[in-house]
Formats: sequence, structure tokens, C-alpha cells
Amino acid sequence: MLKVRRFGPVTQYLMGVLHVGQVYYWCACYQFGDALIDAGAPLCAAELLAAVEGAGLARVAVTHHHEDHIGANALLRRRLGLEVLAPAAALKPLAQGFALRPYQEMVWGWPELHAAQALGPELTTNHGPLEVLATPGHCPDHVVFLHHESGLAFVGDAFFSTTPKTARIDEDFAQGLESLRLLRDRRPKTMFLGLGQVVENATEALGQCIDHVERLAGEIERLADQGLDDGQIVEALFGRESSLRQLTDGHMSYRYFVAAFTRRRAAEKGAGPA
Ligand SMILES: [Zn+2]
Repeated sequence: MLKVRRFGPVTQYLMGVLHVGQVYYWCACYQFGDALIDAGAPLCAAELLAAVEGAGLARVAVTHHHEDHIGANALLRRRLGLEVLAPAAALKPLAQGFALRPYQEMVWGWPELHAAQALGPELTTNHGPLEVLATPGHCPDHVVFLHHESGLAFVGDAFFSTTPKTARIDEDFAQGLESLRLLRDRRPKTMFLGLGQVVENATEALGQCIDHVERLAGEIERLADQGLDDGQIVEALFGRESSLRQLTDGHMSYRYFVAAFTRRRAAEKGAGPA
């Protein structure tokens, strides 16, 4: 299923795969001038191709290598001749592949392996250049695209909500917090998210998110100082594990959010004076 929505100069392609008549997970990509930012999930690639044919695209640039952001890259290049750009650290997983869990395979499908070109500091579009800002945390290769003149920010999975507390097994939310601060300091007006939400008052929302994560990080540190392990900290802070843990076969949980901060604390203590 694919829906097209317009937000001023931005066209959103919102996609999801139907499972028993229901879309469980949406993903979005965005057209800004002749550039497409992100390329949806592999199972949505043919639908996306049909939607963007004739839309005047010259290139597709992705925020990171995850399967729900790169799905149509190879098809768009083959059929429409688009240039495919990705963060330098994403080139290897795009060309050689990466592991998917059964739930990811079911919801998004396997991406076609493909070569891409490394993004530079700016993404060229016929509506002016976008800054390519490194925002590691969700994954090491993550970037955000910013159009400073209009205050538009295409943030991929660098921001999900103002109150995050779940993380992937490979996510470093302590690093993600630093990326959120970098992004907030650019003072964006509108954020376009990888899941499809469009956030107005973006700088304010980023500030709320940063306050929330800093508060949780402080609590985690305090509980770790008392000798609690990650599981006990989850219990003390949230009372239970996230339902996503079971739905994603252990791929996402509160515990991985907590672990990013206890890992950093342990590393800082290890590096400090004895
Ligand atoms: Zn992602």
C-alpha cells in the first residue's frame, strides 16, 4: 500500500505491506526537488517505482543502510537511471548485505544488493543544496539531510518521538543523544521522519526529547551507582520490558536503551583516574 501526501515543497511517499489486511509498520521516503530521500522497504519497491515514474527525479540518497530505507535503490537506478548515494559507512552493507531477523524479512523483505556512491558534505538538488549531517547512534552510518533556507530536516530514524525509551540491540542511544543535540543546534523548523510523521516546531520537539533522554540517563547512572544491573534498572524505571521485545524476537527492548548508558558509564570509569 502506498499513499502520496504533500507538505509544501516536499512530497511524501508513505508505504506499508499488508499482512492479513493490516499494515503493521509504515515507512516513508520524501521527494525534495529532483532528489528522493530514502527508498522504502524492498517489498514496496515496485509500488514506489510506479509512484515516482515521471516525477523528475535525478538521484536517491539514503539516511542509513537499514532495509526499510534502501528497498528501491537498485530498482530506481536500473529503471529510471537514478544516481544512488549513501553514507560512506553504508556502502559495504549495501553491496554485501547484512543479517535480517525473521520479523524484518516478513515486514520489509530482503533488499537487492547494489553499489552506491558515497555522500559528500552536501546533497545537490535543483531546489538548492542540503547539508549532510552525520548523526550516529541509531546506527553508525546514520545521516540527516537539512535544507537551511526553509528549515526542513529529513531525519530518517535519528528521531522517533519526544519520549524514546526503546533501542535496537545494535543501537547506541548515548551517541544518539549527542546527535540529537547537534541536530537541535541547527534549529530545524520541520522534521520528516522515517516512520512517516511530520513534526512541526522541530527544534522544540528535539529539545523535549533531549531533556527526556538526559533525565533517563541521569536516573540510569544513579541506579547503576547503587549497583543495579541493566535488567534491574529496567525494572526500577519502567516496571516491565517493552512489548516490542517479544514482537521483534529480542531485537528491540528497554534494556538496550539502558545498556548504552551503562556501557558508556563503565567506559568512562575505566578511562578515569584509579
Ligand atoms: Zn533504521
